[in-house]
Amino acid sequence: MKQTNSYALLNGTITQKEKVSILPNDRGFLYGDGIYETIRVHHGKPFLWQWHMNRLTAGAETINLKIPLTPLVLLEKTKRLIELNKSNNCIVRLTITRGPGERGYDYTGNETPTLLVTTHEIPAMEKNSISLSITNIRVATGDILTTIKSNNKLGAVMAKQFAKAQNTDDGLMLNSDGNITETSSANIFCINDGILRTPPIYDGLLPGVTRRLTLGLASSIGLIVKEESITPKKLEQANAIFVTSAATGIRNVEKIEDTIFPKNQLVNQLQKAYDEELSKLTISSAISTGS
Ligand code: PLP
Repeated sequence: MKQTNSYALLNGTITQKEKVSILPNDRGFLYGDGIYETIRVHHGKPFLWQWHMNRLTAGAETINLKIPLTPLVLLEKTKRLIELNKSNNCIVRLTITRGPGERGYDYTGNETPTLLVTTHEIPAMEKNSISLSITNIRVATGDILTTIKSNNKLGAVMAKQFAKAQNTDDGLMLNSDGNITETSSANIFCINDGILRTPPIYDGLLPGVTRRLTLGLASSIGLIVKEESITPKKLEQANAIFVTSAATGIRNVEKIEDTIFPKNQLVNQLQKAYDEELSKLTISSAISTGS
């Protein structure tokens, strides 16, 4: 069954994607005034739906944005879209902007938000392991903006381009204290002597849903888990490194700049545990997980 992705959900109505239009004064377009989620779909079911909804709701509250549909209606309509697009295994992108408004940063609070849901192919993963470079992108330690999955993504766009220019797969960003935060689109972890470390949210990163799942999986396979700041030097000395995201799951890192990291059994174990979680997915488990 060929995935079509030809339909989209716009403001509660499923419509042909090519007929979707966004108004020129939509604040999402003008100012990146909006939030989004990227959700993995497996066998027609959105994975970790409730955790994505929790983050979406938290982001909406922080920027004072009204989510136009209840999570249950949104889930029903998203499932219908997945069916229509024949996209049983795909990525769902859910975007909510503040909608059309006056020119200028100020908003009245009476705007009607724009809600767009689309389906996409899962990114092709030709390689088992990826390479990273350390970019010149810096975020402020403790900046609340990094914790919201917002439509302001210039730092990530630049980090990705930086990585591409270095012939690497992705780029790491640092904070104003010089500690590692995340890549352009994934959270980072390192393993050393049976201890799994990942930077704390306060260091300036997105609270990834896959990060959260991975922390739980790591404890269940007997790893000691620590959320603590990681310097580039500490990263270089790690036994193993991997990154996590909803779109690509758990991915091993084989190289950062000139340092090579050998394959590590613990990363394989975590990938296996992640795949098991994905494969036992049912809608009821997806809804209840993480509540
Ligand atoms: N960090 C950044 C900057 C991201 O853009 C993403 C996902 O796109 C992640 C981390 C991983 O988050 P999640 O596991 O929720 O996909």
